[in-house]
Amino acid sequence: MKRPTVIVAGAGSAGCVAARRCAEMGLKTLLLDRKPLHEVGRKVCGDEISKSHFEATGIEFPVGLEVSCKIAGADVYPPSMSNELKVRGWTEFDGWTVNRIEFGQRLLKEAINAGVAFKSECHVTGPLFRQGRVAGVSYKDKSEGGAERNTYSKLVIDASGYAGTIRNKLDDPLVERTIDKEDVALCHREILKLNMPLAEPAVARVFLGRGVAPSGYAWIFPKGVQEVNAGIGVAGGGGRGSPKSYFQSFKKRYPLLHRSSLIDSGGGAVPVRRPLMSLVAGGVAFVGDAASQVNPIHGGGIGAGMRAGIILGEVAKGAIARNQLSASGLWHYNVRFMRGFGKRLASLDIFRRLLQSVSDEDMNFGFEKRLLEAGDLMAANRGNGLSLGNFDKLRRVRRGIGRLGLLRSLQKAAGLMKRISKLYDSYPSSEAGLEQWNHSVKDIVNSAQFD
Ligand SMILES: Cc1cc2nc3c(=O)[nH]c(=O)nc-3n(C[C@H](O)[C@H](O)[C@H](O)COP(=O)(O)OP(=O)(O)OC[C@H]3O[C@@H](n4cnc5c(N)ncnc54)[C@H](O)[C@@H]3O)c2cc1C
Repeated sequence: MKRPTVIVAGAGSAGCVAARRCAEMGLKTLLLDRKPLHEVGRKVCGDEISKSHFEATGIEFPVGLEVSCKIAGADVYPPSMSNELKVRGWTEFDGWTVNRIEFGQRLLKEAINAGVAFKSECHVTGPLFRQGRVAGVSYKDKSEGGAERNTYSKLVIDASGYAGTIRNKLDDPLVERTIDKEDVALCHREILKLNMPLAEPAVARVFLGRGVAPSGYAWIFPKGVQEVNAGIGVAGGGGRGSPKSYFQSFKKRYPLLHRSSLIDSGGGAVPVRRPLMSLVAGGVAFVGDAASQVNPIHGGGIGAGMRAGIILGEVAKGAIARNQLSASGLWHYNVRFMRGFGKRLASLDIFRRLLQSVSDEDMNFGFEKRLLEAGDLMAANRGNGLSLGNFDKLRRVRRGIGRLGLLRSLQKAAGLMKRISKLYDSYPSSEAGLEQWNHSVKDIVNSAQFD
């Protein structure tokens, strides 16, 4: 494709969906990835994805070899490993663990079938500019011996994941080039064959506590009757030791993993903060991990990136039809995403800060007294905050006597989650209001200190 209208850098879940939607909208779309074709989709990941993201986007459910396991519930463990919270019967929690390569290959195939031109083994090295605006990308093409190529387009989409290959080279007040290390989870993940079958092969397990994973959590997700995807994410470069060393001690502590055999292992990083303040700048848009479109409490980003990819394709169509590729021309992507799913992610950013500040003792107490219940977690995840009714408050105050500090923190987090949601409801409809809006967001985020 000599003159693409849109170039998408990165064929992960977000890039494939964005590219597909652009092509479905009639835009000539070129998708580039540094991986060889058969490796597209490979990613160190927990592999869990909720059905709700497919229902929201119209993307087909995973089927056949794409599916490892159905997920229909979770057990959340406090540091004491007792009084775990059992999340069952919430259909919005239903989903799957997927085989990442098969799932990724399907998303790529759907993009190609929609008309996207895909080039593998093309390493994007940076943006090209015309008249102060992004106007294309340069990349090294392995099929041409690594020769550097420049390709121009009307719009460039950075879908290169956590690296943000285009984003991190932009010098524009709208663009957050780097992500604070406090807002990044470093992870170690293993695929393990267990020495006994899982008692509940549709139940995910999550483990909280500073001793397990400072400012993070450990997970064991079923991959089969006797196989799991297990790992640890540690935020803020937190604590001493690597995520791998935390995982090795967790493995020793948790009997289910004893005498398991290793099938695969690897590390990765994921941003765990609210989305970038602006998902666009002149001639460019960001999607997926490159845009920090990830659930801050569990680091799940496949669904958020797919949701954003659909919106972006639709907005791109309008902007290109009007030939308005400035930030203002693309602004509607910001508005649609931030006032919708982005609002949830921002509210969960506050919840993450609360979880990270709670001591192991308080966490154990909170689980024992059920200060938060499964319904609260579901409501928070839905973006409805932690809005406790008066009766509820009273019941919990009774249960929480003895840890008033913890109750106060919960109450404060509930208030801040409500405030930030409201602010995202009024995400500025043009670039002019962004500075003031972002100032107010930062005020709320900075006051999310709980000690
Ligand atoms: C350990 C771990 C566990 C996770 N668990 C879950 C989970 O259970 N559920 C969930 O929903 N999310 C999970 N996530 C997050 C999830 O993996 C990401 O949010 C999601 O994959 C982001 O998709 P993406 O398309 O934005 O980026 P990516 O999947 O990272 O894709 C980026 C693509 O860009 C390509 N690329 C990068 N740089 C260049 C370049 N310079 N030139 C060309 N191509 C380039 C890459 O090859 C890749 O194909 C986890 C993340 C980690 C690290």
